[in-house]
Parts: sequence; structure tokens; C-alpha cells
Amino acid sequence: MSYEIGEVLITEDEIKAKVAEIAKAVSRDYKGKNLLLTGVLKGAFVFLSDLSRAMGAEAQVDFIKISTYKDGTRPSGEIRFDLDFSSDVHGRHVLLVEDIVDTGRTLSHLVKEIKKKGPASVKICALLDKPSRREAEVEVAYLGFSIPDRFVVGYGLDCAEKFRCLPYIAVVEERG
Ligand code: 5GP
Repeated sequence: MSYEIGEVLITEDEIKAKVAEIAKAVSRDYKGKNLLLTGVLKGAFVFLSDLSRAMGAEAQVDFIKISTYKDGTRPSGEIRFDLDFSSDVHGRHVLLVEDIVDTGRTLSHLVKEIKKKGPASVKICALLDKPSRREAEVEVAYLGFSIPDRFVVGYGLDCAEKFRCLPYIAVVEERG
């Protein structure tokens, strides 16, 4: 089985314009606050990079990497940190930067875990959302695009580690 790039859902120009719009809104809303833009690896690395640069010199960034337990002993979606914050988040305003919200299970558990660390606030900024797939409630404060229930790649999102570096968002098609 191989995978090929199919229909382009969101172009490079559309992403660029949306990232600028979100950066403006985040800068306005967090003005004077101790904001920590937190990228969830690996998928958010491109989005966080463009978003933080659109926000300018003041932006501070960190990264976390999580995985969901697959041993069958924990509720579905429960997470563990493979890479934790490099800085103390106590009293900071954490804005989680994610590539895509699908069922919402991962983010719902992640927000709960981060709240245990005592931040001033935790909010979510996601490039993409598949609302038709939602199972767990998550509040997305800043959203790029709502998309239909199709598997997409590009702009940080992969399929078996391929296609992450495409500058647009496209659907993947299976061959063979
Ligand atoms: P959920 O919201 O179901 O807990 O999981 C979200 C995660 O599933 C995302 O961070 C991403 O890693 C993966 N995911 C969901 N939909 C897609 C998709 O269409 N393309 C890719 N590449 N990953 C997806």
C-alpha cells in the first residue's frame, strides 16, 4: 500500500492569511500577559513556527510531546508526557498550539494534566478541526479551519512520517 497526495483542501495563501489573523487576535488578547505558546509535537511544529514569527519579538515558545497509553488499562485518550515543558508553567498563560482536533480526547486529557501544574490559564489554538468526529468536549479558543472527516496531511501533519513539509493541507489517497 502506498499513499499519494489528493485534493488540496487549504492552499498556502489561505493558511498564511489565517495565521496572520490568529497571530493578531492572540497578540491583542494576551497583551501584557505572561503568554507561553506551547507547540504539541510533532504535528504543530510548522504552525507554531509561523504563528510565533507573525507575533513578533515578544513571543515565547515551548514544546511538549505526548502519547496516549495503549496498554488497555487506562481510559481511552489518557496521555503521558514524552517531552514535558522545559520551563515552569506555574502562573503562566499557556496557549496550546495544535495541528488538528479530531475526537478531542487527547486535548481534553492534556488540558486536565496541564491544569495540575498551576498555570494562570490554559487555552487551545488549533489549525484544523473535524467537528463531526468529536467525542470529548474541548473548547478551541482560536481556530484556523473546520474540515470534513477526511485524513489530511501537510503543514506539519504526516502520514507515516511523510508529507509533513508540504506548504498546504491536502487529502491523502491510498494506492494499491
Ligand atoms: P484526537 O483529537 O482524536 O484525540 O487526536 C488528535 C490527533 O490525531 C492529532 O493531533 C493528530 O496527530 C491525529 N489526527 C487526527 N486527524 C488527523 C488527520 O486528518 N491527519 C493527520 N495527519 N493526523 C490526524
